[in-house]
Amino acid sequence: MTSALRIDFDNTYARLPAQLFSKVTPTPVRAPELLAFNHALANDLGITGTDDTDHLAQVFGGNLVPEGAEPLAQLYAGHQFGHWNPQLGDGRAILLGDVKGFDIQLKGSGRTPYSRNGDGRAWLGPVLREFVVSEAMHALGIPTTRALAAVATGEMVQRDTALPGAVLTRVASSHIRVGTFQILAARGDLAGLNALFEYCVARHYPTVSDPTSFLQAVVDRQAALVAQWMSVGFIHGVMNTDNCAISGETIDYGPCAFMDDFHPMTVFSSIDRKGRYAFAAQADIIVWNMAQLATALVPLMPDRDAAVTTFTQIIHAMPAKVQHLWSQALGRKLGFATTHPGDDQISSDFLTLMATQGADFTNTFASLARDAAQDQFVDRDSYQDWARVWRDRLERETDPVATMRAANPTIIPRNHRIEEMIQAAVLGDMTPFSRLSRALAAPFEDVAEFQDLTRPPTQEERVPFTFCG
Ligand code: AMP
Ligand code: MG
Ligand code: MG
Repeated sequence: MTSALRIDFDNTYARLPAQLFSKVTPTPVRAPELLAFNHALANDLGITGTDDTDHLAQVFGGNLVPEGAEPLAQLYAGHQFGHWNPQLGDGRAILLGDVKGFDIQLKGSGRTPYSRNGDGRAWLGPVLREFVVSEAMHALGIPTTRALAAVATGEMVQRDTALPGAVLTRVASSHIRVGTFQILAARGDLAGLNALFEYCVARHYPTVSDPTSFLQAVVDRQAALVAQWMSVGFIHGVMNTDNCAISGETIDYGPCAFMDDFHPMTVFSSIDRKGRYAFAAQADIIVWNMAQLATALVPLMPDRDAAVTTFTQIIHAMPAKVQHLWSQALGRKLGFATTHPGDDQISSDFLTLMATQGADFTNTFASLARDAAQDQFVDRDSYQDWARVWRDRLERETDPVATMRAANPTIIPRNHRIEEMIQAAVLGDMTPFSRLSRALAAPFEDVAEFQDLTRPPTQEERVPFTFCG
């Protein structure tokens, strides 16, 4: 017997001042079909009655608003590629409500008052990309939004061509962005700003008491996040301030990708023509984004001049913090659990070696634990010169192999495998999706069955561009 789906909603965002959102219901779709459902995550959220697949498709396709939900679209603004956009908002996402402190949001569920020229829809490709990559990030231990469900709509959406539509159900500890603060500050809405601040403190930073320590706490989480991204070769691709979560979770998996061969200026996103969000630029851009948050928090301070001075100090201290965390992460990837003078030189020499020879980021680091990295280099002599210094340094460590194994994934969602999975799904074959998902659930293990998924793309297989979808 099937029992009814039950989600224990507590709609805290809907109780915030009304100017922060618009109540809106999802637009029904023609023929919802459940493509994927994350039962483990549903369990964690206490969601019950998930055995009726058709019912899940109705709910997570947007045709049936579940009991207790108060659907709404959130308002925000943001700097897109450095340019201020005074009003964005959920143009194709609808928050159903929150449960146990986690937002449940449909993405691709139809137009909202913030859709501007958009259709409010998503196509299957980006929905499955986000599903696979966000769950992979979670398995890698990196703070991220999660994927609960993917539903095919049975409708086509028009992009460059007509493509099959889909809806993703995203779970996040909240969807509040830097841009949510920015829009209230820009509008001079002090009451709204204050309410949002209090809400974020209660929900995300309960030990924080004032805007200064709040800024510091967000800065700390974002610095840690970006260092973690970089340590697995992740390129977010669209680090606009509206895609930068106050919670410190990775959000908005539009044009993201993992690097194959290492180069610091690697870019995948087709619209990032100047490399603003290139791999290594992420360490600088996050500081820029936090400066925008700082600016938006100034009106909350009684003495604005003093606030500017204090906030400036926090922002100016951030680059060194990100650098330190990134150095530490790199050190662990090389087997250094402790830090010693000269470590940074060893790390940067290694990165230079990888960049000049186009070595595969993931496989090269993963092979270090087996002391087999020379196979990743064309010029083995220069690698061996470096490795002598590295092996000497490892003498100071008690268990460097364990350190390396814990820091270096063997499997990441390579872009050509994501594309291959999407192409199959478009033709109705979800086998590559399932297989990729299973492989990525244990990214630090060497699993013989998934060896093929660890292979870098050949020249022909390479997929150099990603799109927002
Ligand atoms: P993004 O680049 O994904 O961060 O999106 C930027 C803004 O565009 C956000 O306000 C989105 O809600 C909105 N947006 C993106 N795609 C669509 C779409 N197909 N329909 C309506 N709004 C969209
Ligand atoms: Mg976005
Ligand atoms: Mg997006």
